Amino acid sequence: MSSKRAKRKCDDFFKKQSKQGLALGFGDIRLRTNFSEILPDETHLGSYFSRNVAINIPIISSPMDTVTESKMAIAMAKFGGLGIIHKGLSPEEQAAQVAKVKHHLSAFIAEPICVKGSDRVGDILRMRDQKDYGFSSFPVVDGDRRLVGIVTSNDFEFCHDVEGKTIFDIMSTDIVSSEFLDVKGAYQTMQERHKKILPITDKDGLFSGIYTWKDVKRIMTNDAQGYSLDDNGSLLVGAAIGVTEDDRLRAKLLSMKSVDVFVVDTAHGDSKAVVEMVKYLKLNYPSIDVVAGNISEAEAAKRLVDVGVDGVRVGQGPGSICTTRIMSGIGHPQVSAIYECAKAIRGSGVSVCADGGIEYSGDITIALAAGADSVMLGKLLAGTTESPGSILYRNGKSMKVYRGMGSLGAMLDNKASRERYGQSGKSSDKLVPEGVEAEIAFKGDVANILFQLTGGLRSGMGYVGAANLDALQEKADFYRISSSGLTESHPHGLDYIKDAPNYRGTN
Ligand code: 5GP
Repeated sequence: MSSKRAKRKCDDFFKKQSKQGLALGFGDIRLRTNFSEILPDETHLGSYFSRNVAINIPIISSPMDTVTESKMAIAMAKFGGLGIIHKGLSPEEQAAQVAKVKHHLSAFIAEPICVKGSDRVGDILRMRDQKDYGFSSFPVVDGDRRLVGIVTSNDFEFCHDVEGKTIFDIMSTDIVSSEFLDVKGAYQTMQERHKKILPITDKDGLFSGIYTWKDVKRIMTNDAQGYSLDDNGSLLVGAAIGVTEDDRLRAKLLSMKSVDVFVVDTAHGDSKAVVEMVKYLKLNYPSIDVVAGNISEAEAAKRLVDVGVDGVRVGQGPGSICTTRIMSGIGHPQVSAIYECAKAIRGSGVSVCADGGIEYSGDITIALAAGADSVMLGKLLAGTTESPGSILYRNGKSMKVYRGMGSLGAMLDNKASRERYGQSGKSSDKLVPEGVEAEIAFKGDVANILFQLTGGLRSGMGYVGAANLDALQEKADFYRISSSGLTESHPHGLDYIKDAPNYRGTN
């Protein structure tokens, strides 16, 4: 922690800029290179979205209705990042989306179907077929929910009198069970004891769930290497939440589905309503991390840390679909905002997520070098197979909608969007949009996009000589560049530039 608080190389650079009253965006600066012994492939991208939510790549998908529902969140967590399910859904729908992500790789089954010793074997087989269960192993519990045995497909297979015998007659009592174990512990125990099912009991000996070998093995072997997982081996997922009375019910439903992090999602995070909501969530759900925003000033970051957040989301108006800065006149250019907020809370253990305005992979390197622990993306992840919405065809091209949550369309469609921007009107003449609606070219699978984005980040870290993100922040220093420096940075002087996987051409 002490080195996290220590003075950094780039402090002098930003001090100089702010002395002149200058605040910088991504196009205004580039990183200096350093002597390097690090190859891009050797870099480590592990980070935190919030105090307790560790991720393997520092990329988060934004809670927007054209970016993140369960399909995107699953793909993000499988690539090592994290998806935040948007709140344009009803609380029930949003909780169901969270459950889909959590159940996608369910190593630990908390409420498995159990049977009783007195049940007739034939009845259980019929129930299995009727309900189309894809499994044949059932824990056997007594009336007090104590585990008394297990029946597996072998026991059913070798039972020749299914109508005459009960589960008690065929079940196995040679069970290895354990008090709560994480997925690693379960893997070890199952391997050592050659058990394909491991029942778990609570400290009073009551049955609480099972691990199944197939899922545990999948998670612990290469298949799930690099995934963002919780202690039970399920994919990590976050959910956006507002600041109204209804959002308290939303929080309850999300917590019941084991959401990993609440993201208090407003356009102005330095406000009384956000502070109250953070306090409410920390008091009522102390084991779930809370990230709050959006903010862009140092004092705002400190205020949120003081009320107990686990992460702050920085960015007011840099987003590709935002018009906030133009229609309202406010705004702190994004790189300076990231730096100032991160510096203000350095050493607190609270993470910083840089949200909005990221156009190229190089901007990710800059955002992290300036002090962010992760970046949140909208546009770069929209228009993919996993983003919500169908493909549209315009002038022979495949497109998908990408729109601001403060756009007229989003505000007309859902109350949560209106609340994000503090508005109550319900018709277009009573709403003041803070974003636009757009279409962007369909880009295919999000994994290919993430591969390019992390590749660019790794390359930047190689140039800086940083093996991991802490080292990137320690070693980073910047050049302020001019408009001709920016022109020189992009391809130039060419008549026709082909699209590259990480750069848009001039077609
Ligand atoms: P992008 O990655 O497209 O540049 O920015 C995405 C971010 O823009 C989101 O994560 C969110 O913070 C912000 N955002 C989303 N919709 C709107 C909007 O309608 N207005 C404003 N001001 N910001 C938005």
